[in-house]
Amino acid sequence: MSSVWVILEERNGHASPISMEALAAGRQLAAQTGLPVHAVIMGTATKPLAEEISHSGVGSVLAIEHALLAPYTPDGFTLALQQAVQARQPAYLVFPHSYQVRDYAPKLAARLGQTLIGDVTGIEQGPVFIRQLMQGRLTGAYRHSGQGPCLVSVQSGAFRADGAGTEAAAVETFTPEIAASAIRTRPGEPFRGTSQSVDLTAAQRIVSVGRGIKEESNLDLARKLADALGAELAASRPICDSGWLPLDRQVGSSGQTVSPKLYVAVGISGAIQHLVGMKGSQCIVAINKDPEAPIFEVADYGIVGDLFEVVPAMIEALKSTRAQ
Ligand code: FAD
Repeated sequence: MSSVWVILEERNGHASPISMEALAAGRQLAAQTGLPVHAVIMGTATKPLAEEISHSGVGSVLAIEHALLAPYTPDGFTLALQQAVQARQPAYLVFPHSYQVRDYAPKLAARLGQTLIGDVTGIEQGPVFIRQLMQGRLTGAYRHSGQGPCLVSVQSGAFRADGAGTEAAAVETFTPEIAASAIRTRPGEPFRGTSQSVDLTAAQRIVSVGRGIKEESNLDLARKLADALGAELAASRPICDSGWLPLDRQVGSSGQTVSPKLYVAVGISGAIQHLVGMKGSQCIVAINKDPEAPIFEVADYGIVGDLFEVVPAMIEALKSTRAQ
């Protein structure tokens, strides 16, 4: 039967956070199309991860196992998935838009005679897949047509992993045929975008600071607020461009895409390039002295005021709440 497959990536024995977001997208697509959703994992010893994933609200788990699937290679993963797709004929393949997926999914799409609808931020009835174009200035709507599976990858932070817990679903194993000579590359160290001291994508709370902070020495104020909230400190691009904070703290189209439970924007105007990186946050609090600042369009709570008055008052209030 036709189905929605979500291809999960393993990180330290678990599904990566962006894979769980892809699973949420897969579930949404399944609900819209009336198709069952299945999780797919690939590797050599998939059993523990398959068991974990079987409790995450999927119809079944397909474990594609082969000795040549670890470590990851684009040749191995492409060949394995190609064979599984041709054998089982899913209607949709949903991937997390990770570096690894960017490496092999376009090749898989080409092998299957398809295109990859990459970096999807929303799925509407149809299904119609939404992507951002030109640094978020335009939105494109894409519909799959023709025969064969539809391949999409979903942007980090665009779908909320909901951690749906269920009874264990069945786990099936698929063994592809891969000859050692088919693997033409030997992987090096996995790529990391920057030497990350912090993974903002995993942060539950973020205090993000913009040009409204005026001077580097004033960053201490934002740091104190972050400490009081148990939050990570992040920034808009001008702050990182000035070297006041490292690049791995930048949020936005040329920085990280985050979706914390709480995002406090301090003195940030809300340019589109910043918004695309944080508008998936669950609760957005904006502090800005300009009531017309675009950040207020996405904020759940807006404080119009001078951050040099508002932030110290917030820190005091948090301290006194904690003391009680
Ligand atoms: P500003 O736009 O200068 O806003 C400062 C805000 O602070 C204003 O709204 C002001 O009202 C407020 N303010 C001033 N003083 C106070 C005060 N005392 N109290 C309260 N509020 C105050 N930007 C990103 O953030 N991330 C990206 O990844 C990114 N990528 C980009 C990629 C490209 C190709 C381009 C062209 C741009 C990119 N930008 C990015 C830059 C983006 O367009 C904006 O210039 C930037 O986000 C603005 O940063 P800001 O909000 O900190 O500064």
